[in-house]
Amino acid sequence: MTAPPLLLTPGPLTTAEATRQAMARDWGSRDPAFIALTAELRERLLAVANGAGTHACVPLQGSGTFVVEAALGTLLKPTDHLLVLVNGAYGERMLKICERIGRTAKALRFDEDQPVDPIALAELLTHSPEITHVAVVHCETTTGIRNPLESVAAVCAKAGRALIVDAMSSFAILPIDLATLPAQAILASSNKGIEGAPGLGFALFERSALQAAAGNSPSLALDLHDQWKGLEANGQWRFTPPVQVVAATVEALRALEREGGQPGRLARYAANLDVLVEGLIAAGYDLFLDRAVQAPVIATFVQPRAWSVRFETFYDRLAQAGFVIYPGKLTRAQTFRIGCIGQVFPDDMRRLVKAVEAIAAPGRAAA
Ligand SMILES: *Cc1c(COP(=O)(O)O)cnc(C)c1O
Repeated sequence: MTAPPLLLTPGPLTTAEATRQAMARDWGSRDPAFIALTAELRERLLAVANGAGTHACVPLQGSGTFVVEAALGTLLKPTDHLLVLVNGAYGERMLKICERIGRTAKALRFDEDQPVDPIALAELLTHSPEITHVAVVHCETTTGIRNPLESVAAVCAKAGRALIVDAMSSFAILPIDLATLPAQAILASSNKGIEGAPGLGFALFERSALQAAAGNSPSLALDLHDQWKGLEANGQWRFTPPVQVVAATVEALRALEREGGQPGRLARYAANLDVLVEGLIAAGYDLFLDRAVQAPVIATFVQPRAWSVRFETFYDRLAQAGFVIYPGKLTRAQTFRIGCIGQVFPDDMRRLVKAVEAIAAPGRAAA
């Protein structure tokens, strides 16, 4: 069997051998061994964001979007108003979720290549007393832009509004310190910066907010207050847990600790990004974002106007060379994306740059 390609995507990602091996056994979901594994999962996730003193971790079966929908339904009452700071597809998705579950939400929109603006938020909040909650996407994976989480949180705290953070693609990568960051909820999933297997989302909720959320959710399976109550009562999941995914994710969290926790992971991904961006810029490609707002998660490159290949050919040839990349997700520019997260290292990025150079030249007309 030839080695599977490296996944240079926003997730699911290339995982470590030990993480995949952890899935090669069965677990009884009500057995003490699995209950202990669930407890370790919840503790380790809280520890990544330094939230043990203030927050509680509630895991949920499903992908990241499941936990976003579950958290919005659990935290928002029908009388609440959510303001979503939008500069990409994942902000738009939160608006769509609210529409579906019958919660009031509106958007404060910014260009896709601009970070959300805390000053504009502060101004809007002064004359919008009806807004009870604000949601922000920490790293907008649409472009890979880093939004100013700390400033947004400070504005919300000062204005007395609750903050909900989609930290899906930033968790365990960018610093999140719940001992100092005023955030009611941090939402993320198992298969991005944690490098676990896909199939698990989780929320870190302020304990007081969780306690006040009984009966809010319009959904049974997605009620994270009930999910929390169940876990607190006997350490068990209400409904069938993805046992192998939990085992793999705990294994990945142990590896994260050995790598030096979030700072260690950030250092490796930042090194990956440096090699990727410097290499592709030297090869004649333009980074879509200003380098100063580019998070070390996934980089968006502009498709050259006179490229020597079509994107589909470029994608296929890179896949043959062992690299799976990602198409762009922008409305106004032709782009492609290359992730620098997962079990990938600067040497992999060097090989990727060489492969790109061999496959396509930015300056020549399409063959
Ligand atoms: C990956 C991601 C999600 C969730 O996507 P799923 O495909 O449901 O896992 C949500 N928000 C952001 C910012 C993401 O990067």
